[in-house]
Amino acid sequence: MRIALFAIFTSVILRNEILKYDVVIIGGGPSGCACALRLKDSGLKVALIDKYEFPRDKVCGDAIPGRAIKTLNSIDPQYAAAFKKFPAKCVTKKTSLFYKNKTITFSWVLEAYTCARYEFDNFLFSLVREYTKTDIFTSTQADLVSTTEDGISISIKGNNKKFETKLLIGADGAHSVAAKQLAAQTLDRKHHVGSVRAYFTGLANMDSLTTEIYFNKRFLPSYLWVFPLPGDTANVGFGMLSSEISKQKINIRKAIYEFIETSPVLKQKFKDAKHIGELEGFGLPLGSNIKTISGPHFMLCGDAASLIDPATGDGIGNAMLSGKLAAEQAVRCFKENNFSSAFIKSYDNTVIKALGKELKQHYQVQRILSAFPFLFDIIFFVSRSKLLKKLIKKQL
Ligand SMILES: Cc1cc2nc3c(=O)[nH]c(=O)nc-3n(C[C@H](O)[C@H](O)[C@H](O)COP(=O)(O)OP(=O)(O)OC[C@H]3O[C@@H](n4cnc5c(N)ncnc54)[C@H](O)[C@@H]3O)c2cc1C
Repeated sequence: MRIALFAIFTSVILRNEILKYDVVIIGGGPSGCACALRLKDSGLKVALIDKYEFPRDKVCGDAIPGRAIKTLNSIDPQYAAAFKKFPAKCVTKKTSLFYKNKTITFSWVLEAYTCARYEFDNFLFSLVREYTKTDIFTSTQADLVSTTEDGISISIKGNNKKFETKLLIGADGAHSVAAKQLAAQTLDRKHHVGSVRAYFTGLANMDSLTTEIYFNKRFLPSYLWVFPLPGDTANVGFGMLSSEISKQKINIRKAIYEFIETSPVLKQKFKDAKHIGELEGFGLPLGSNIKTISGPHFMLCGDAASLIDPATGDGIGNAMLSGKLAAEQAVRCFKENNFSSAFIKSYDNTVIKALGKELKQHYQVQRILSAFPFLFDIIFFVSRSKLLKKLIKKQL
């Protein structure tokens, strides 16, 4: 009798809770939120799951590229207008590049900002909460993702919840389970940057309108960034191609301080600086080698699809654009009731059409500068050239 009762009890407790959705988005970062926002009036039943509670931090340089705001505006101008009023940001209008004792400063075409990701991502996530009917599941970590006869099944780590969906959007970042398990993607060190960042206060000569990039002969073409944030704070970071980190056996956590110590300009800048919190590391999957980013019943967006600009390190704008494009493809899939690999492939094509040429060009720039670092001397020597400034401006 006792055994029978125990068996009934455990079968009830352990029974999988199955939640069925038209679309499940894994990841509530910029790509996942852009996707959910774009699906707002689609009439589809959408779930957004994230392993953390929001607000949550994300290791980043905190530079919000123009493309991010442009994409937000294209989804709905009221979202971009809301961000204009969002207080926890700096408007940035210029970038200064420093090498040896020379500086090049140029202005941007598109409106851009710096905003700590803790704030920015929570802003986007709040838009999803406030304006859409998306069912949101936080503290919900996708574990096993597998194809079923009619869609995708997602099991959740540490509980018996299971999601079943016709269409999965893998927006779960650089360590995406969707990319690994559905698209068999692995880390490619030649197209991946290892990076660290920390927050500082009390840096000298900061201008809230200007982001700063420093080059050092020892680490070319990698750079150290100093990005201003509200309240006398700055985001400081350094990244290098992962294949170079391994080849040169560089300890990137030490290299960032070596970079500062060996540059007279930076040494002066950091003279009275205070470190806030820890130095944190994270990877950047670059868009220099776009692979398959979709398949039957799934699409990958943002870092899960490896879309970070190989020259600038910008990934937020590309992530949001891909999230929006995935949402538009999702609507087409449901309209045609077609979730086949061949049909969804047009998502890959729209992403490549939108970003492919730019990513390819920036990859070439990165490769040329890696192979011929003396070009830095030439570029900075001719930096007064109006033509060069015009060319750089055109790329932004
Ligand atoms: C050091 C560093 C500096 C950078 N600096 C910049 C910069 O200044 N400007 C810029 O534009 N880009 C920058 N980037 C790139 C940028 O951070 C990414 O391109 C961007 O965050 C990609 O957005 P995403 O939505 O694809 O992924 P993410 O922002 O990583 O969001 C993924 C979300 O998925 C959730 N998640 C992950 N796994 C699971 C799971 N199994 N189950 C459920 N949820 C899950 C996470 O909690 C997270 O909320 C930088 C990156 C690094 C590492």
